[in-house]
Amino acid sequence: MNSLKQTYTQFIKKEAKRLNFDYCGISKAEFLEDEAPRLEKWLNANKHGQMQYMENYFDKRLNPTLLVDGAKSVISLLYNYYPSQNQNLNAPKISKYAYGNDYHEVIKNKLHEFLFSLQQKIGNINGKAFVDSAPVMDKVWASKSGLGWVGKNSNLITTKNGSFFFIAELIIDVELEYDSAITDYCGTCSRCIDACPTEAISEPYVVDGSKCISYLTIELKDEIPNSFKGKMDNWAFGCDVCQDVCPWNRFSTPNTEPLFANTNNLLNFTEVEWNELTEETFNVIFKNSAVKRTKYKGLKRNLKFISTKNEAV
Ligand code: SF4
Ligand code: SF4
Repeated sequence: MNSLKQTYTQFIKKEAKRLNFDYCGISKAEFLEDEAPRLEKWLNANKHGQMQYMENYFDKRLNPTLLVDGAKSVISLLYNYYPSQNQNLNAPKISKYAYGNDYHEVIKNKLHEFLFSLQQKIGNINGKAFVDSAPVMDKVWASKSGLGWVGKNSNLITTKNGSFFFIAELIIDVELEYDSAITDYCGTCSRCIDACPTEAISEPYVVDGSKCISYLTIELKDEIPNSFKGKMDNWAFGCDVCQDVCPWNRFSTPNTEPLFANTNNLLNFTEVEWNELTEETFNVIFKNSAVKRTKYKGLKRNLKFISTKNEAV
């Protein structure tokens, strides 16, 4: 006869599938002992740039029991965002994860439905849902749960479908059966390090956030430093280079989420259309998109910066 732990674990894995998550793995909620010195070193070296929020919640980031009272399990979930269509080749580029509707909204709704069905099945449980949320070390939890390994580009990579996934978590106060981590399959490969346009992968497995194009085009609120002139590889929002070159991404398959479909002809925009984008059009096109995080002003700053190539601005 199945124990309650087994029954709940099986239910969770089934429910993840029903809600269209591609992968689900579970870990014991405990202090991330190995990560503490690594995180501290990264922060002390100021590799987070202006991302002040990374300094907050240091203890909570390492210990899920400080985030959810009585936490026993971290359920990691992956949701594919690899698109079926690519952008117009010569136009300013936006990261694939931002082609459709804002993933925070899409996934948050699913997580709330997930928590609700757990409450129906198990009873009055305490739990919280997280998606791309600063206090949770999502890649670490996903790798502990056997969903993949954290590669030299610091992305979580699955052996079956590469790395174009959103990562989300449910932290709950219920004991479950736990999965085991898998091996690192980067081997001698260094494609991501060699291809990074700004040399942001300062050493294998360490991304200097302050040099990463994703940070420069999204998180950075000031002007982009002139030292990055000519190095932005035409990225106007985010950057996919270290994932695009990763050999494991030849196994990526297009997502099946209708809300991630590009519905605003964005992928066909020409360089001229991007550069002539008005605030009105921006508000319409990016109404439900993660791109609205940069605001119109931020996107214009990025477009101007990448269009002026090597000239000083
Ligand atoms: S996202 Fe782009 S800039 Fe950032 S580490 Fe990867 S390749 Fe480099
Ligand atoms: S490109 Fe190579 S080194 Fe980089 S993450 Fe992928 S497999 Fe690892």
